[in-house]
Amino acid sequence: MQRKLYTARLERKECISESAQCYHFDFAIDELDSFPFSPGQFVSTVAPDSNGKQQTRAYSIASAPRANHFDLCVNRVEGGFFSNHLADLSDLPPGGAVSLHGPHGHFVLKEPLTDSIFIATGTGIAPMRGFTQFLFPEDGPDRSGGKEIWLVYGTRHETELYYHDEFEALAARKPNFHYLATLSRATDKWTGLRGYVQEHVARIVEKRAARLGQKLPLEPVPAGTPATELNFDIYAYICGLNNMVSGVREKLAGYGWHRKQIIFERYD
Ligand SMILES: Cc1cc2nc3c(=O)[nH]c(=O)nc-3n(C[C@H](O)[C@H](O)[C@H](O)COP(=O)(O)OP(=O)(O)OC[C@H]3O[C@@H](n4cnc5c(N)ncnc54)[C@H](O)[C@@H]3O)c2cc1C
Repeated sequence: MQRKLYTARLERKECISESAQCYHFDFAIDELDSFPFSPGQFVSTVAPDSNGKQQTRAYSIASAPRANHFDLCVNRVEGGFFSNHLADLSDLPPGGAVSLHGPHGHFVLKEPLTDSIFIATGTGIAPMRGFTQFLFPEDGPDRSGGKEIWLVYGTRHETELYYHDEFEALAARKPNFHYLATLSRATDKWTGLRGYVQEHVARIVEKRAARLGQKLPLEPVPAGTPATELNFDIYAYICGLNNMVSGVREKLAGYGWHRKQIIFERYD
C-alpha cells in the first residue's frame, strides 16, 4: 500500500546537549491543519543518501499532539546517515524540510490509565516527553486522574539529561509526577541519583508493593487467561537501546510482573 508522504518543515532546532550532539526539533506540516497521533508513536523519515538510495528511519515523536506541529529529539550517531542529515538541517527561513510518513507504532499509553513507570535512557526520553505533555498539559485539564506517574531517566553524564529542567518543573507542579534522573558516570558535583535505571525501578516497585501490602514476587497470572481479562494496576513503559530494555524487563519479570504489563520500544 502506498503511504501518504508529508513534508515537514523545520521551524526550530536547538542543540540541547553539545557533548552528546543531541538536537531538539520543532517541525510543522504545512499541508495539514492538524497532525493527529497518540503520544508515544513515531514517524518514519525518508531521504535519499549520497548514492541516491532511499533511506527510512524511525523517530519517536517527542511531544503531545499540537496542531500541525510535532517535536523530535535526535542525537548524531557517528557515521550514521539520517541522524546527521537531520542535525544538519537549517531552521533559518524558509527552513529545511524532511519527508515522512506516519504516525506509526504501538508504544502508547494503556487505557484506562493506571499508575505507570516510564523508563528511558538517552533519546528514549522522546516518547516519555510526549506522554507527560499529554497527561499534564500546561494549558488544559490534567489527564493523569491522580495516578502515580514515575519517570526514571538514566544517562551517563549530567550534560546528557535532555529536558531535565522541564521534568523538574513538572515534578514541582504535580505531586503525582515523580522524576528520578540517575547518572551512571556522575561527577562529584552531582547530588542526585546514581547508577542504572534498573536499580531505581526496583526500589519503586518494592516500595509500592510494601505500601499496598503486596508480596513480591507477585502470584503468576494463570496461563491461558484471555487478554481481555488481564487488568493490571500498574504498567511500565520502557524506551531506549536494547540492552537497557532487556535489563528492565528481566528485573520486572523477576517481581512476577506479566509480560503484557511491560510495554517497550527498542531503538536498536
Ligand atoms: C521506533 C524507533 C524510534 C526511534 N526514535 C529515535 C529518537 O527519538 N531519537 C533518536 O535519536 N533515535 C531514534 N531511533 C533510532 C533511529 O531510527 C536511527 O537508528 C538512528 O538515528 C541512527 O540512524 P543513522 O541513519 O544516523 O545511522 P545508520 O546509518 O543507520 O547507522 C550507523 C551506525 O550506527 C549504529 N547505530 C544505529 N542506531 C544507533 C543508535 N540509536 N545509537 C547508537 N548507534 C546506532 C548502527 O549499528 C550503524 O553501525 C529510533 C528507532 C526506532 C526503531
